[in-house]
Parts: sequence; C-alpha cells; structure tokens
Amino acid sequence: MVDSNKKIWLASAAALVSGTGAIHLALRAVGIGEGDIVFCPTLTFSATANPIIYQNATPVFIDSNYETWNMDPIALETAFEKYGDKVKAVLVMHLYGLSTDMDKIMAICEKYGVPIIEDAAESLGSIYKGKHTGTFGKFGVFSFNGNKIITTSGGGMLVSNDEEKIKKVRFWSTQSRDAARHYQHSELGYNYRMSNVVAGIGRGQLKILNQRVFKKKYIFEFYKSELGQLDGVEFMPINDWNEPNYWLSVMMLKGKVRPLDVMEALEAENIESRPVWKPMHMQPFFAEYDYVGGDVSEKIFENGVCLPSDTKMTDEDLERICRIIKLLWE
Ligand SMILES: *Cc1c(COP(=O)(O)O)cnc(C)c1O
Repeated sequence: MVDSNKKIWLASAAALVSGTGAIHLALRAVGIGEGDIVFCPTLTFSATANPIIYQNATPVFIDSNYETWNMDPIALETAFEKYGDKVKAVLVMHLYGLSTDMDKIMAICEKYGVPIIEDAAESLGSIYKGKHTGTFGKFGVFSFNGNKIITTSGGGMLVSNDEEKIKKVRFWSTQSRDAARHYQHSELGYNYRMSNVVAGIGRGQLKILNQRVFKKKYIFEFYKSELGQLDGVEFMPINDWNEPNYWLSVMMLKGKVRPLDVMEALEAENIESRPVWKPMHMQPFFAEYDYVGGDVSEKIFENGVCLPSDTKMTDEDLERICRIIKLLWE
C-alpha cells in the first residue's frame, strides 16, 4: 500500500472477506493457539476479541487512558508483569480513528519481545507521527465493512512487511490447497478470500479516501464549535501527534444532560446516534476473562455519544442536529 503524500510502502497485503477474518489469520500467523494469552483493548468492538477465541487462546482485556481513549501503556505494563511469557501477542486498536500512542505501546512490547497486531479497522487514513496506522505492528488489519470510512459492502485486508507470512495467509484464506494437481490439503483452510467484484469496488473507494477524511474532519469541527462550549461537554481527544480520520465524532457528557437524553432527542426527529462501544470486560460472553486497569473505559462508555457522522450530511443537517441537542441545555 502506498500513500501518495507520505510514500510509505508495505511489502505485502492479503485481500480478505472481512476485517475479522484478517485478525483471525494474523493471530494464526503469529502462532497463537491454546493456552496462549493475547492482550486486547477492552474499549473496542467485539470483532477485535472474537478471533482470540477462534484460536482457543485466552484474551486479557486492557483499559484505556483519557489522553488517547485507547490502550493505556501503564495498564499494559501491569498486565505484562502479571502474565510474563504466557503473552504471545498484543492487539491494539485505534478507536473511532484516534490513534493509540504507538511509541509507548511498542516500547513495552519490544521489551517483552511480543508482536503487535494492529486493528486499524476504524482508522484507515489516520496518521500517527507522520505514518499511517496499521503500519506499525507486525500485522495491520483494515476493514471495508459497510459502516467504515470506505467500504466494499464487506471486506478486509491484512498488511505486513513479512511477505512470507502474507503468502501463507493467502494460502490459508483460499482453503489451503497444496500445489498438487489433485485436491490435497496438509493444513486447515478457510474461505476468507476477497472476491474480484468486491476488490473492484475497493479500488474505486480508495480514490475517495482522502475526500472522506476531509469531510469527517469538517463534521467533527462543526460539532465541536457548536457544542463544545455546552456545560459538561468534552469531545474525543485530538493529540498533536495524531491526524485522525475522524471516522465517528464522539462527545462525552459529564453534566446533567446524559447520553440517553441526546440519543432520545435525536431519535424523536428520526436521527440515529449511538453509544460508545461497551467494553469487552463488561460483556457477558467475555466475563470469565481477566481485565487489567481502572474505570476509564467504563466512564467513556457511560458518558459517550457517537454523533451522526455520515459524509453525505449537509450543513443544514449538521445545524439541525446541533439545534436539537442544544435544546437539552435550555
Ligand atoms: C468493524 C471492525 C472490525 C471488523 O471488521 P469486519 O470487516 O466487519 O469484520 C474489527 N475491529 C473493529 C474495531 C471494528 O470496528
């Protein structure tokens, strides 16, 4: 993959059926199996964590910090002290396009000699210290699901500088057919390959990625200037080392007006908004797994609202949304 402005190349990529499939095969490529511990951010969508279970490994969930809303390096260090060499991979995710503080996370992972798999499903186009998210880890994962910044209706990609591993991933993703005339398989295979029609849509979508990021940023700044001064309102953190893709505009409400008030007021006008991802350690399915950290992700979940962020919205749409929200403060 190449960015025309930044000239950053990655050696290899496998086009797959979904971002979830890409995470799954990245875990397999790293050699994750039964008994292995994989660290995973708690404040994420379940698709980050589920593939750990597909590989019969054990997730341990890590809290966020307020500075980034993403994986907290202090909690990560604590978790390493607890689990030591049972840890075989660290998944990081870039929530809503905000990047994780990769320098800090990478320094810790290097110290313990553990590979990073970067779930960049929400952050295609986001730049951390001059470099695209998804290009820091041993593997990077992108998604082209219908809700993402660009979409093929459904699809995903695994990228890496390790060309041999990507070749292996392509082999697994096409049913692990050995190089034999007869149908021979010496490894477990999957039907995870991206179809040609879907790939064609993706090539078209890639051309408009920069335009989408531009509009997403415009939407965020519109909300921030209209709503940022309201009592108790705080927007997601934009760090000076981060150029996010602003996939979703998210605000936190710490005063009398609650997220549900905003969601219901918008819903009454037939406008959809959503809560922040419910942390994995609070999910019934993942309740039995360990969690390291405090209550940051819980607080972001309790207080956060994802505002309408579709790039097709007009200024009138944005003004109308802000008007409805502001009424709650009157
Ligand atoms: C969307 C998403 C995925 C999954 O991607 P799919 O292509 O839908 O499988 C993984 N992780 C995160 C954080 C996501 O938001």
